[in-house]
Amino acid sequence: MTLRGRLTAAFLVVVLGPVLLGSIFVALTVSTVSRDRAAERLDYAVTTVRTGISAICRQLQAAADAVAVVPADERSAVARQLVARGLASDIQIFPGGSGAQSKPARADDCAAPTGTNTSAIVAIATVDTQQITAAQTVDEAFLARLAAAGGARVTIGSHPEAGGRELSVGPGQPLPLTLTVARTKPLSLYAVLLAVVIAAGFAAMVVARWLARTTTRPLGDLAWAADQVAGGDLDTRVPIVRPDELGRLAATFNRMTRELQAYVQALTASRDQLRGHLAILGETLSSTHDVDRILQVILRTALAATGARSGLVLLLDPAGGHLVARCAIGLTGAWDLPDDKLATMRLPVGSGVLGGVAAAGESRRGHGEIASTEPPCRTYVAVPIRAPAAVDEALPPAEPIPATLGVLALYDRVGGDDFDDADLRTLRTFAGQAGVAVHNVRVHEEAQRLSLTDPLTGLWNYRYLRESLRREVERASRFGRTLAVLVLDLDHFKEVNDTYGHAAGDAVLGEFARRIRIGLREVDVAFRQGGEEFVVLLPETDAYGGAIVAERLGAVVRDRPVPIDGRGTVPVTVSIGVAVFPEHGSDAQRVLRAADDALYAAKSAGRDTYRLADPSAGGPSGGPQPPSAGAPKPSPPGASRPPLGVPTGGPQPPRQAHGR
Ligand code: GH3
Ligand code: MG
Ligand code: MG
Repeated sequence: MTLRGRLTAAFLVVVLGPVLLGSIFVALTVSTVSRDRAAERLDYAVTTVRTGISAICRQLQAAADAVAVVPADERSAVARQLVARGLASDIQIFPGGSGAQSKPARADDCAAPTGTNTSAIVAIATVDTQQITAAQTVDEAFLARLAAAGGARVTIGSHPEAGGRELSVGPGQPLPLTLTVARTKPLSLYAVLLAVVIAAGFAAMVVARWLARTTTRPLGDLAWAADQVAGGDLDTRVPIVRPDELGRLAATFNRMTRELQAYVQALTASRDQLRGHLAILGETLSSTHDVDRILQVILRTALAATGARSGLVLLLDPAGGHLVARCAIGLTGAWDLPDDKLATMRLPVGSGVLGGVAAAGESRRGHGEIASTEPPCRTYVAVPIRAPAAVDEALPPAEPIPATLGVLALYDRVGGDDFDDADLRTLRTFAGQAGVAVHNVRVHEEAQRLSLTDPLTGLWNYRYLRESLRREVERASRFGRTLAVLVLDLDHFKEVNDTYGHAAGDAVLGEFARRIRIGLREVDVAFRQGGEEFVVLLPETDAYGGAIVAERLGAVVRDRPVPIDGRGTVPVTVSIGVAVFPEHGSDAQRVLRAADDALYAAKSAGRDTYRLADPSAGGPSGGPQPPSAGAPKPSPPGASRPPLGVPTGGPQPPRQAHGR
């Protein structure tokens, strides 16, 4: 049953019920009243008829008596007179004596009625021997007169079935009568009542239908609109017909739909934005090995995905046991730093929220209780950045990469509510991305390092020498600085191999490299160019500084023969050529060649020494240099500085010829 049908039925019951009940009540009341009225009328009729009949009896008696009192010869005349005057319908004078008829047949005496003769009633007066009988005929007309007086139908005899009242026979009451009153049935009233009920029913039906329609139509509209909205049509609006409750409901529905539409639009926009971010993320991950840029993009995407206001990525510094800030967005206070200063923000592993996440390797989420050294916030969620599980167990990485690489943290969601489980899951996904990216970059760096280093000595290889030399020359040229290039070659190394074996030769090479590394500053870089030839780059160093380093390196090799496992020691010496940019060469190639030439000069000068490049080798022409005749050993550090650019000259101790 529809709502409209139910409303109609309810209205009809509410309205028609009382109408029907009222009508029944009125009908019952009317019926009772009419019955009471009939009884009253009957009472009245009984009294009237009884009084009337006894009055007639008295009148007959008076007439008889009146005849009796006059002289006998006048009696007949008086009797006629009285009858004529209507006091009796007949007056008869009967002679007295036994056996004489004393009264007319079929007449009942008023004084001693028997109730059997009902054609007339008589009153008898006796005088002398005469009996005077005054009679009243009981006929239809007489009964009609009685009925008219009493206001009821009068019939002779007992008729109990008629529901009337019977008058019993007694002195002064000679007639057995039954009085009945016609009960007036109020049919017209019932008809009116029925008409009222029908009219009320009809009116109620019409009103109920109207009410139900006007009430349910807006509901129907609402149901239709809700259907449309459920189907995805968010442009649907409901007409607001009246400002009643349904009108308010419609207005609320419209507002709700509008807000839903705005929300969906915002959601769609943020989804598109997120798609954009994810596209950038994918592109960045596949196109760059710049960790900071990757982290920046990951952080930006995580912010967009969770609606956080600010975020921070810190990476673990394995050496210092610290978390170092690598990338931040939207932070305030002490953490509001330009990117190049961000790395100064360090947090100890193990304390605070971020340190705790890094130490335990477990995510944390909450609000408030954050250390003062960490970014200020109302709510936070922080997850560890982990290296992916080793893909190929058969090939373990050379250096074990720590399980936790860093921490990714988001702060203060837009809208103010706490971060939920979904945010945590999202952030874990991004932390996973960051972990893969950082791991990949580190693996890549390691591979890069391996491809640029010499496995025997651990020094940079020839490939990296070319790259570094070019870069250092460029830098020196840009800042107007000098760069010293040393080329070192072990003396008579072939002999070492021949005497002690190739493995011993390798050991000597390793030890030689180790001593070079120890003997250099941090900014100096050593390379194994190939075989037993090495190169050292000394940034911001001139010929004098280069000569000092060459002297020192020669000494650290010469002074301590290299021990080879249990077979004694091998004396080793090295010859060194020194050239300086831009003095001895205007570009990388030229300055290296000048250093080579100086080395050749050192070999020629008898080995275990160094030579400074010929200054005339500098300049654009370059070209091969004649071997130097040898250079005086410069004074050790602290001694007075010799004039630069005068590498040649001076007697050299006799040495073996180069390339013997
Ligand atoms: P000098 O330079 O003093 O003229 O004499 P040298 O004996 O060092 O001359 P040369 O450059 O001809 O010989 C280089 C030798 O270095 C040849 C080779 O046997 C040896 N050598 C080159 N690379 C390696 C290496 O990786 N391991 C070992 N053990 N020996 C090497
Ligand atoms: Mg050589
Ligand atoms: Mg050599």
